[in-house]
Amino acid sequence: MNRIAIIGAGVSGLTVAQLLKENNQVVVYEKDDAPGGLIKCRRVEGNLFHTCGGHVFNSKYNHVLDWFWRRFDREREFVKTERNSAVFMENGLHVPYPIENHTYMLPDDMVKGIVSDLVLMSKQNQSEALNFEEFLIKRFGKTLYDAYFKPYNQKIWRRSLADVPISWLEGKLPMPTVEEIIYNNFKQVKEKEFVHSTFWYEKENGSQLIADRLAKGLDVRLSEPIEQLVYDNGKWWVGKDQELYDIVVFCGNIKSLPRIIKGVSLGQYATQIDALESHGTTSVFCKIDKNPYSWIYLPSEEYEAHRIICTGNFAVSNNADENTMTGTVEFTDEIKKDDIIENLDKMPLHPQYITHQYNPYTYPIQDNHTRQMIKDLKEELAASHFFFTGRFADWEYYNMDVAMDAAMKTCNHIK
Ligand SMILES: Cc1cc2nc3c(=O)[nH]c(=O)nc-3n(C[C@H](O)[C@H](O)[C@H](O)COP(=O)(O)OP(=O)(O)OC[C@H]3O[C@@H](n4cnc5c(N)ncnc54)[C@H](O)[C@@H]3O)c2cc1C
Repeated sequence: MNRIAIIGAGVSGLTVAQLLKENNQVVVYEKDDAPGGLIKCRRVEGNLFHTCGGHVFNSKYNHVLDWFWRRFDREREFVKTERNSAVFMENGLHVPYPIENHTYMLPDDMVKGIVSDLVLMSKQNQSEALNFEEFLIKRFGKTLYDAYFKPYNQKIWRRSLADVPISWLEGKLPMPTVEEIIYNNFKQVKEKEFVHSTFWYEKENGSQLIADRLAKGLDVRLSEPIEQLVYDNGKWWVGKDQELYDIVVFCGNIKSLPRIIKGVSLGQYATQIDALESHGTTSVFCKIDKNPYSWIYLPSEEYEAHRIICTGNFAVSNNADENTMTGTVEFTDEIKKDDIIENLDKMPLHPQYITHQYNPYTYPIQDNHTRQMIKDLKEELAASHFFFTGRFADWEYYNMDVAMDAAMKTCNHIK
């Protein structure tokens, strides 16, 4: 039986721990005072605040779904909901999501532009796009790019989309063909008619329920930040009590590895890790007007927020009482409270500030070399019984289910 130290009690670390605990002695170290990482929730004034992400759950991986649902009484603890999202355009027009399927609702001159774009696109060869801007124009045409995709995505990425690489895109964005766009508009296909247009949501406590359940039965040492991992004679010294382990699985942020790891040289990787870029998110918890939506996308350049997640619609218990409706307004990177309030005043649904949290690491940015670098580093460190997985360990745009899948793959190397 190996002694295994797992760093980080987010979805990834907890999944790894649950998988390895059967045949090993496993300890999870977490710097925060609660498990969950990005999916942590807390109650504020009786309302449930998702402090960052992991709002809803679903997966296209059956093995992940099987593993996940074994831990819950699905019908009793979760509700299944259809996505109902909208794009709020500047002129007060609310267009159902995805916008490319509802172009018939847009103003006349825009529709004419979109039709010309589609005709042009159907005659062109779909050569590979070199960056995100090219990708969006090739997929959706210049008119929709200028009206929605560009302003919305520039708020998220805070840079020219020509400078955003596309390696992270896989599986993240709809990739409709010209034929599909035309068909979906003619037939007025709704979001709920798409595969994976449903999600599961917890009846109580939001995604904190997932974190708490995954932490159940584990030895999780909370409020214990790992500042040093020392490799010595084939073993690892870990934690403030300097306990000895055979194996380490790191599920924190790769940026801290060059500082933390001792006794194994990261060589040239240290510089490459240092150069990795990412964004943070300011999640602003608000009371908002009642509405029927799950997500609202906001391309308007009048304010900086890009999305409202209407978490008050996900479960009745998320709002303090039946007169209150809550949601989270999202801004990329850190926004100060005064600026938040100024922005909220210009936004739809009259958001009233309750509280906010800034999370410095939310969206990893990959370049064309990131995946190979991470793969090579994994291979090198495995020789010292050091493994890593997770959104900011792998520098991947994982959703919860994909983080679980990646954790499973990592454990296959260890068992
Ligand atoms: C805004 C946003 C919305 C999202 N919405 C969804 C969604 O609706 N559905 C979905 O499936 N996914 C969603 N995701 C993705 C989901 O949140 C992540 O896939 C998942 O939470 C990643 O878990 P993780 O364990 O890999 O990383 P993290 O959650 O970052 O966990 C890492 C943990 O390690 C701890 N740690 C780090 N360093 C140390 C150290 N040195 N010592 C001890 N502890 C340490 C941290 O405190 C943290 O608890 C969203 C993400 C974001 C940012």
